[in-house]
Amino acid sequence: MKKLGIYIFIVLVITIILPTVIVKTFNFVPRDIPSLGVSLVEERPEEEEEEDKKDPVEIEYDFEKVKVYNPKTNTVDIVPIDEYIMGVVAAEMPAEFHMEALKAQAVAARTYAISRSIKFEDGHPDHKLAPLCSGIHCQAYLSLPQLEDIHGESWVEKYWSKIEEAVVSTNNLAIFYDGEIIEPLYHSTSGGRTENVKDVFAIDLPYLKSVTSPYEEGATRFKNTVTMSIDDFVKKIKAKYPMANIDKNNVHEKIKLIERTGTGRVKKIAIDTQVVDGRDLRDLFELNSTNFTISLDKKLNIIEIVTYGFGHGVGMSQWGANGMGKNGKNFKEILKHYYTGVEILPIK
Ligand SMILES: [Zn+2]
Repeated sequence: MKKLGIYIFIVLVITIILPTVIVKTFNFVPRDIPSLGVSLVEERPEEEEEEDKKDPVEIEYDFEKVKVYNPKTNTVDIVPIDEYIMGVVAAEMPAEFHMEALKAQAVAARTYAISRSIKFEDGHPDHKLAPLCSGIHCQAYLSLPQLEDIHGESWVEKYWSKIEEAVVSTNNLAIFYDGEIIEPLYHSTSGGRTENVKDVFAIDLPYLKSVTSPYEEGATRFKNTVTMSIDDFVKKIKAKYPMANIDKNNVHEKIKLIERTGTGRVKKIAIDTQVVDGRDLRDLFELNSTNFTISLDKKLNIIEIVTYGFGHGVGMSQWGANGMGKNGKNFKEILKHYYTGVEILPIK
């Protein structure tokens, strides 16, 4: 009987008590662990997901169409924004570039068009008929018929759908800093490091800071050399700065570097007693950038100006964007690299 008692007890343990303990334990554990798991996931979201969850930013401006002044014909075109962005992407960036670079360019072009249209709603001071122009003064824009004229029909067949995809897939995304739409400057090639905006233009903007631009080596205009005779160099200087006491024999003493920017571009230069901006010399000798050095060979009567990069060097480097795309970065990563502290948000 005793054995039977023990046997019944064991059976009871196995059939009632043990399952109860197991069920209770499992009831207890699953209730806690999933909630712990969920809260952990919620605490560490991916940045992109967080951004995607944000509500579209309302812009008090009808950006369905943009007003574009054509300086060649002195007329104004009203262009649907997507059509305009496609024309800017095609005019500003080689269509062979990586898709993510084209997308980054599309978002930058859209952001620029909207910010300028809001800022100069009644017309830009330099072209009062419209807030934007189709030249490089604002951002270059070419219509599809113009592109076909320049590149031919085969180019349109090969690349137009690619450009369309870059624009449509980033539809209504724009770049914001601290809740405000930004003015995203961009340029062809920085020469390895982009420039602080305050060293180039007379403004300071927190999102246009100097950053590295590591993937530019393939850029066609990464390095460029301009060579001329010392006589021609002096002649050009004298034409622009007639007061300068400069000639073939004293040129090496009369042109002095006063200041370089933090990234090595020429900021101030002295021509005899006059101090001028590096940009003035860039314009005078049609240099690719202000990142230049001048060397002189008296024996050969030669002046050599070597430039690095192409453009003003501020904001996104297009060649750098292409390099980043090829190295697996997406358009948001590209834009956030070149524009410090920004968010990419939809607009409505
Ligand atoms: Zn303009």
